[in-house]
Formats: sequence, C-alpha cells, structure tokens
Amino acid sequence: MSPAPVSLYNTLTRRIEPLQPLAPPRVTLYTCGPTVWNYAHIGNFRTFLFEDLLRRWLEHAGYDVFQIMNLTDVDDRTIKAARQAGKPLAEHTAPFTQAFFEDRDYLRIKPAHVYPRATEYMPAMIALVARLLERGVAYRGEDGSVYFAIAKFPTYGRLSRLDGREIKVGARVASDEYAKDDPSDFALWKKADAEDEAVGAAWDAPFGRGRPGWHLECSAMSLEEIGRRFGVQTLDIHAGGVDLIFPHHENEIAQSEGTTGQPFARHWLHGEFLNVRGTKMSKRHGNFLTARDLREQGVDAAAVRLLFFQTHYRQPVDFTDQALDAAKEGVRRLGEFRGRLVERAPKDNESGPLSSLATRLEADVAAALNDDLNAPRAVAALFEFVRGANRELDRPDVSGGTARALAAFGRMAGVLDVLPTPKALDPELASWVEERLGARDKARKSKDFKAADAIRAELAARGVEIEDTPQGAKWRMV
Ligand SMILES: [Zn+2]
Repeated sequence: MSPAPVSLYNTLTRRIEPLQPLAPPRVTLYTCGPTVWNYAHIGNFRTFLFEDLLRRWLEHAGYDVFQIMNLTDVDDRTIKAARQAGKPLAEHTAPFTQAFFEDRDYLRIKPAHVYPRATEYMPAMIALVARLLERGVAYRGEDGSVYFAIAKFPTYGRLSRLDGREIKVGARVASDEYAKDDPSDFALWKKADAEDEAVGAAWDAPFGRGRPGWHLECSAMSLEEIGRRFGVQTLDIHAGGVDLIFPHHENEIAQSEGTTGQPFARHWLHGEFLNVRGTKMSKRHGNFLTARDLREQGVDAAAVRLLFFQTHYRQPVDFTDQALDAAKEGVRRLGEFRGRLVERAPKDNESGPLSSLATRLEADVAAALNDDLNAPRAVAALFEFVRGANRELDRPDVSGGTARALAAFGRMAGVLDVLPTPKALDPELASWVEERLGARDKARKSKDFKAADAIRAELAARGVEIEDTPQGAKWRMV
C-alpha cells in the first residue's frame, strides 16, 4: 500500500505542497535538537512536540520515517556555561543531556532513531570545512578562523528571503547567533582561544586547532547520517523553530549545498513561538518554564500535548494557567469517555450508529492532519466524536458499534497521544480500598445506608470513585 498524500507548508517556497520524499516510503527527517547548556524550556518542547506529531502522522500514513535529532554539546553557549560552572565541557553538558531525555519521555515524545552529539562528529566536520576550502567557498581569515564566503554562494538568502542588496561582501561574524539584518561571512571553524582550551573544547585540524561553528555541526551530522545509512545527500524534511530560519538554517543550506552541489532538504518546516502568560518567556519576566517544572507540579503530559495541539504549529501559542486547566479538563473527559467505551465494547460486536461516527472520526482527523498538520482541527474532530458517541451511549437501548468506536478512538487519540496517564496504583492503597468496599457491602446488606454512604465519602476523599454494577462494586482512581 502506498502512503496517503500528506501536504505540508514549505518555508522554502512559502506554499503548502504535497510531501514528495526522494525514495518513498522512506522519509528522512532532521530536527535540530537542544543545546545542552541548560534545561530545555517549554518553548523548545513545543517545537519538539510538533515534530513528534509530524513523525507520528507520517508513520500512521504509511511512511517509514527515519528521524535524526542532534544534540549541540559544543557551541558558544555551552562553552560559556561550562566556564562559568568551572567544569570541563563534557562534564557540564552530560546532566543536561540526561535531563532532556527525561523530559522527552515525560512529554511522551517518540525517541528519534539517532541522537548525534556534535563532539562525536569532529572528523565529519573537519572534512566538511576542508571540502568547502577546496571548492573556494570558504577562506581562512587573518584571525585564524575559517569563514564561509556568502558572495561565492549565489543562492544565499533563499530560505529567509534576504534581499541580495543587504549582503555586505566581506563583512564577517564569528559568533553563532546574529541578526537577520546583518548577513555576513560566518565562522565554520573558530580558532581555539584560552577559554575553549580551558574547558576542553578544541580539536586539531589541518587548518588550525579550533572548534566548529554551531551551523556547521548540523550540516556535518545530517549529511554524515543520511550518507552513511542511505547513500543520499538530500534530506526529505528539515524541521525546527522559526527562530532558526536565519541564520542557522540559511547557513546549513549554504554549507551543505556548497559541499555536495545537491539540494540539502526538499521540505523545510518551522514551528512558531510560545509565549507564557501573554509575553515572551524570560527569566526576567519570571515566566520561564521548563518541562520539569510542569512534571514537578504533577501536570499530566497529556494536558500539555493537548494544549499545544489546540493551536496550529504555524501560529504562536500562549501558555496560560487557564489554557492548561482547560486542557486538563479536556484530557479528563477523553479518559472518562474511553472508560465508557471499554466497559461496553466487549459485549458489542455489532455495527450501528457508533461505527459510523468512528468512520467519520478517522476521515476527519486524516483530512485535518494531511492538510499541513492541522492539529486543532483534528482535536476538534476528536471532541466532536466524544460528544456524538456519548449521546449514543446515554440511550437506554444498546447502541451498536462500541468495539469499532473504541478501536478508532484509540488510533486517533493515540496519534495525538492525549489520553490521561494511568495513575500508578499503590498496593497499600488498593488493599485499603478493598477492605473498605467489603465493609460498605456489609453495611448495605444490613440496610445501614448511612454507614455505607459514609464509607463512599471516605473513599471519594482519597480519589476513589465507586460504581455499583450487577457484578458488585467497581472502583477506580480519579
Ligand atoms: Zn541545527
């Protein structure tokens, strides 16, 4: 079966275009990963969550996705942070890499197939710089660093739509980050200084001892991975946050195409920003939020996912307490609804109104996500299904199709992964609940309803909900 058509906005052409991978059903997906100088913030995770949805949807559509996410463990920021902490670079970045993986798992992000670490790809980076020097698109500056000559790469600025006139020939920039109105020759390889040596961030190269520029790292790691694994030099999709369009992705294109002469990526996807409580997140505004803050507050990852997916990835999101509360409530409703279906499904193999609702749910979610990953529309379809199906389940007469509805709901809610995290059951609590339920049963049998009600209230106070069924009392944590 060939994969279903998926259309996505391409930053390169500023149009929504059908995804056309080089060698379907394979899709190579490169996603710029975290810089492990500190904990990744919730804005970084918004990007990673949009990429997670993209990957899951492509897989659902029948593609065989190979996802690469790099870890930037050497750049201006990591070196500065290690210096301030008085530690070698590797020692400073290791716990933040570990923390990133923990946060990823908390937010239910599917692990990439490979996480190349910049410090482990020095030979590939050095080879890339050597090749660019050879081809005459790079040169050694008198400061001992190697620069990319943007004037020698005529299509420079195509991704970020820079006007050719803005480019000042010969102007140079050494730092990893700089402004869009200052396109300049950028550093591919920076001559090692005392600070680099002090933290162990310097490597020998034929063009002098130094360290890679941040932009070079992604070009080298992505080309190395797809070249070695698939024998190609073009990525199917390259994704990241909008803040990476310039200079990071522009420079990645220049370095990669300047080396291979092939298009670097067929499709460029960029996720929008996240604000927290109305403003840009910053330590100064006191609204800086990490994934671990949310985890420590006991926030169910499903609610964070739902909150993000309620906004299109190309629109900014405002992360507010009200939005989070609403998402928590949405997740609770989804879980409760699933519980109803689970209860009914084993006794129901027929088709009926619920099966037609299920068919519509799958068609609506597919139409939404095939259309530039329109997650808010997919979420709306999910809740519309819950409303419609709940109405059917409320009818006194048995309505057919719950098994089919449960399967479809599981598949669609599974792509978004927004069902509540099952609460871990403490065995001590479980045996206490069983004991109390026994006491309640006894009280009811002796018609002491006051005592029975008191026990129900006692259980409710600890988050235990009981439901009396013909087979006896059932309970669950809420
Ligand atoms: Zn990158």
